[in-house]
Amino acid sequence: MNKHKFTKELYNKEFLLKIPKTDLHLHLDGSLRLPTLIELAKKEGIKLPSYSEAGMRDKIFKDSYASLDEYLRGFSYTCAVMRTKNAIERISYELAIDNQNEGVRYIEVRFAPQTLMSDDMSFEDVMNSCWKGLERAKKEFNSHSEILNGEEPPFNYGIIVCAMRFCDKRFSPFFASFFKNHKYSAPLETINLASQELAKATTKIVNETDIPIVGFDLAGAEEGFPADNHIQSYDIVHRNFLSKTVHAGEAYGPESIFQAITDLHADRIGHGFYLFDEEKVVSKKNRKNAKKYVLNLAQYIANNRITLEICPTSNLQTNPDLKGSMKNHPIRKMIDNKLSITINTDNRLISNTTVTKELQLVIKEMKITPAQLRNIIIYGFKRCFYYGSYVEKRDYVRDVIDYYEKITEEFLGKGIIYHI
Ligand SMILES: [Zn+2]
Repeated sequence: MNKHKFTKELYNKEFLLKIPKTDLHLHLDGSLRLPTLIELAKKEGIKLPSYSEAGMRDKIFKDSYASLDEYLRGFSYTCAVMRTKNAIERISYELAIDNQNEGVRYIEVRFAPQTLMSDDMSFEDVMNSCWKGLERAKKEFNSHSEILNGEEPPFNYGIIVCAMRFCDKRFSPFFASFFKNHKYSAPLETINLASQELAKATTKIVNETDIPIVGFDLAGAEEGFPADNHIQSYDIVHRNFLSKTVHAGEAYGPESIFQAITDLHADRIGHGFYLFDEEKVVSKKNRKNAKKYVLNLAQYIANNRITLEICPTSNLQTNPDLKGSMKNHPIRKMIDNKLSITINTDNRLISNTTVTKELQLVIKEMKITPAQLRNIIIYGFKRCFYYGSYVEKRDYVRDVIDYYEKITEEFLGKGIIYHI
């Protein structure tokens, strides 16, 4: 690998657009095109606070949010327009196209199917519609001559199914009837049962169809809704060889990350923001030597190549501890500790972002070197939950690395980046 340095212009785009990229932490229901949301709402008669893009940006999808609650409010509108097969297919297709247009070659699209289900929309309907949309976009992209003749790596994707840490009857028609039919159970018990039901549905589809579901995730508000409520559902998917990721350490501290790894068998962690935060170690035993505990945990994560899915803009928008600056983000510490990290969008619409924008932000604010950038990008491909054999995945990663090197050489040749 040549050592080279980026010029200022390079931060701004051309190179970043061209290199192959991934987005492993990408919520389907947070990443709609705004015009599509408005069009579908009009068609389905769903009430929005505004029917113009500017109005929706002003009221719902803002550049900054006062709280996580305000950030999450947008999902009630996006989910409301996504409860038809055509809408899910279209939104999935458009999401893949938007990624392809900025040089993203691999995406893992996640969402909570139960938030879209109803008497008329089964789990199978939801998953099939998403698959159809993504597959159509993949076929279109991969029919280009550069892909067919092997000059460029193809576009690929996987789907991640999310269970909800918190949900109630307001979340969807499915949840309304699920809670109604479990009225003698406490809310946490009903959430536990819904999660297990989802895990069973997921493994059935994985074992019986070709829908490329590659992983299971736990999403939603962390506080007051512990991950251990989902031990049984993670056990079900684990025993069926599905990969696992968990939103953890977004609101809780290092012990929540430990729990995700040990109790839920997480292969990756969504956010992991408070990994190094000794103050947030709460158990009496671990508090005695919180410094050591955090160090051991970080070592364990590094040794086992458990990947942290970092979503910079989303963190800036929802985490007051950052005080609006990436300078306060633990990403530098993660890189210095040689952890495997990837950069992701979380929600393209709600965070008003793209993969390229996230990379620009991190490079600029954290002074990422070209070698570090290369590592981050390649980890995305190496640590993705690829749908296919390990041999196929290795070949794919090799193709991506070769292409990355080729682009780098090209830009060195043009004098846009240069050796140091
Ligand atoms: Zn997320």
